[in-house]
Amino acid sequence: MDKHIGKLADLVSAGGVVVISGAGLSTDSGIPDYRGPTGTLRRRLPMTYREFVCDPSARRRYWARSQIGWRHVARAQPNSAHRAVAALEHGGWLHGTITQNVDGLHQKAGSRDVVELHGSLDTVVCLSCGARDSRRDLARRLRAANPDFDLRTSKIAPDGDVDLPDTFVERFAVVPCRACGDGIIKPEVVFFGESVPRDRVAQCFEWVDSARSLLILGSSLTVMSSYRFVIRARELGISVGIVNRGPTRGDADACVKIDAGLADVLPRLVERLGATGEHIGAVRTSR
Ligand SMILES: [Zn+2]
Repeated sequence: MDKHIGKLADLVSAGGVVVISGAGLSTDSGIPDYRGPTGTLRRRLPMTYREFVCDPSARRRYWARSQIGWRHVARAQPNSAHRAVAALEHGGWLHGTITQNVDGLHQKAGSRDVVELHGSLDTVVCLSCGARDSRRDLARRLRAANPDFDLRTSKIAPDGDVDLPDTFVERFAVVPCRACGDGIIKPEVVFFGESVPRDRVAQCFEWVDSARSLLILGSSLTVMSSYRFVIRARELGISVGIVNRGPTRGDADACVKIDAGLADVLPRLVERLGATGEHIGAVRTSR
């Protein structure tokens, strides 16, 4: 393991690193990775964009489940892996962080240059007038519209979705957009069957094209929305390092691959690089 961390440190110490992070980074923050080997298998298919937009009962199911799941994600705290990524950024080694996660934990840990590839659970948007609102405000409105609705459950997916009995869902009242009065509100996350906004993808490619290396953290690169950056790196001859539990789609392209937990590996990487200051201090005290 030490030898591999040394190789990873060599890669990162050259600077210009673009991090691509996935659900595996947030499992130690209590947000399960339902694709990873330690996570539970997906119990049902995720809701597609089409379902959400076309089917009012699907939207009711989404918001009823999200009303519980979102609170869990909103209360989650960054772990030592998030703090290590922030320390790498503050140490000047990173070009930026592209995350597939919608939990905002990189920013909570102190990372500044973050592109949330699949959006954020923090914000909602009206599909009619485009008005944006905070998820927190929407939670208040949904609570007011559903005063009797409260159920604790521990089966929570990374997107803040949960399993709920149909009887709870059928009684749930969804609220319309506050600005236009009747528009459909959608969380500002990329649903299955929906494309990542073009300007966001362009920004990521700009980072990747000027990167010295890519560092894949906690992602099996199953989805093309992030795997395409590894393909681009291969085309441009950019080195790829991977830390992930279990195999990833990018393993054949990696010059170093560590199959281990991120909260274990990343603080050691940061120590090896000799980062100083409050962020590495936070990494050390958390171990
Ligand atoms: Zn509206």
